[in-house]
Amino acid sequence: MSLEFRKICNPLLPQAQDVLAYLDVPDQTRWYANRGQLVRTLETRLSSYLGADKDILLTTATGTAALEAAILATAGRAGPDRPLALMPSYTFAATALAAERCGYAPCFLDVDPATWSLDPEALADHPALARAGVLLVVAPYGRLPDMRALERLHARCGLPVIVDAAAGFEQLAACPEAISATVPLALSFHATKTFSTGEGGAVVWDSFEGRAAIAQATNFGFLNSRECRAPGFNGKMSEYHAAVGLAMLDIFDHRQAAYAEISHQYRDIFAAHAVPGTLFVGPKISSAYALLLAESPAQADRFRRALEEARIGWRRWYEAGLHGMAHFRDCRADPLPVTEDLGARLLGLPMAPDLTTDEITKLALALARAEQTDQQGTDTHGHGQVRSAP
Ligand SMILES: *Cc1c(COP(=O)(O)O)cnc(C)c1O
Repeated sequence: MSLEFRKICNPLLPQAQDVLAYLDVPDQTRWYANRGQLVRTLETRLSSYLGADKDILLTTATGTAALEAAILATAGRAGPDRPLALMPSYTFAATALAAERCGYAPCFLDVDPATWSLDPEALADHPALARAGVLLVVAPYGRLPDMRALERLHARCGLPVIVDAAAGFEQLAACPEAISATVPLALSFHATKTFSTGEGGAVVWDSFEGRAAIAQATNFGFLNSRECRAPGFNGKMSEYHAAVGLAMLDIFDHRQAAYAEISHQYRDIFAAHAVPGTLFVGPKISSAYALLLAESPAQADRFRRALEEARIGWRRWYEAGLHGMAHFRDCRADPLPVTEDLGARLLGLPMAPDLTTDEITKLALALARAEQTDQQGTDTHGHGQVRSAP
């Protein structure tokens, strides 16, 4: 067993020599940015990986750029009648920052305790809809929302709907029906995500006009000319990032198999050691995460202390929600009891494509022991139980 600190997240991107194989193209073409050959090849290969027989995505510089472009392409900038962007508080800061950069004031809504996401049915008659310019639904840890329900909501009230599916690449590949012509999905290819280009992202949208609007928003508002005709910014992926993505796609089946084995071991080892709480790993969530939902906030505190003592990293990936962060303190928010409960109980555990059985065992022992010691004052085994995620 390693005595070193096990980091919460230890990404492993393609090796330099594998990326190098693609760099002949920019060397030869002297084309380095602005939708070159490697970017277009990556888009075609990713579209087919997501089960489409035509291009259904457009790459961007980051996942945040994908969100911002999707907002500009569907809703445009905020106006005085519709100044709000509705979104969950239970998400990463990028969701709200992207909305702010398009002029919207974030308005935080609570999530559903089972899906950890906004409930499309509950949204249908939310009073804030009247002042909302856009709805940002998050696919937490890659778990996709009900896309048909979101399409219906959009059709019924006309409000632009975007899904922040930053970590949802694998879930989307497993469920091509989720791809929509009216509700764009934003992906992140950041190093901490399962499929990565280092920094990067994409908008997945089965609409030619939609993707043209993304291309325009991410290229200074230009489309087929050098005249700025719409709000935009520089959100394009470079050829060098595309090279990383192509090399990543070459190894991705192998990578996914490695993650699947680690997720399987997580489930087995946590069950064998009777770790209390509910474990979430792939394929239900993105393989980049392992999450433990403690039975109570107090138990989550004991887990955190035990992990720190065992020199094992943990993280609340979405902290306690955005509404508690200094920058968003003045944003409008509904009461957020589910968000606060999830923030207090849902813990990120270490995940990496080379996490070992020994490391997972050490982690399971630390968690199981923390709870048994606390309940009984002695270190006995066999109490508590792990439930597999439903
Ligand atoms: C990773 C992530 C982002 C940001 O993506 P970047 O590529 O880092 O810009 C946005 N939203 C969520 C939910 C994320 O997990």
